[in-house]
Amino acid sequence: MLSIPVRTVLAGAVQVKGSFGADDTTWQDGDGVPVGAIAVTGRLSVAGTGRYYFSGQFSGSARGECRRCLIEMETPVHLESQLLFAEDPAESDDDPDVYPVSGGKRGDEIDLRPALREQWLLEVPAFVLCRPDCKGLCLTCGANMNQGACSCTRKTEE
Ligand SMILES: [Zn+2]
Ligand SMILES: [Zn+2]
Repeated sequence: MLSIPVRTVLAGAVQVKGSFGADDTTWQDGDGVPVGAIAVTGRLSVAGTGRYYFSGQFSGSARGECRRCLIEMETPVHLESQLLFAEDPAESDDDPDVYPVSGGKRGDEIDLRPALREQWLLEVPAFVLCRPDCKGLCLTCGANMNQGACSCTRKTEE
């Protein structure tokens, strides 16, 4: 479960283990969703009055374009995650790094998914590289330089 009642956390730190599927309703249209699901593990604890702290990891697989040569590919993603949740909406409104406690029907659950979604969308594009030494595309003709030199390179060499 990735939405944890506040009263459960108040009773003691919670070990979180869950799965955040690509079909979860938290994702929005146009999001670069994971392939399958993101596995989430961590610990959720009280961090002062009305504040909660999650520390953990999430891992999954992203599908996207290599940021250099633009081929479609899948890439494994593993991220450390530290999240702060606050009951006072003023706190989360003021600070983009603080998330509101707004899960559950009565808003008394800490839902990790909106925060994880945000982190996933922010962090994942940096990971997508088809190989560490991807040569990218020729700026002149757009040829994929991983497949050998294009005709413009040959021209300059001549
Ligand atoms: Zn590439
Ligand atoms: Zn070229």
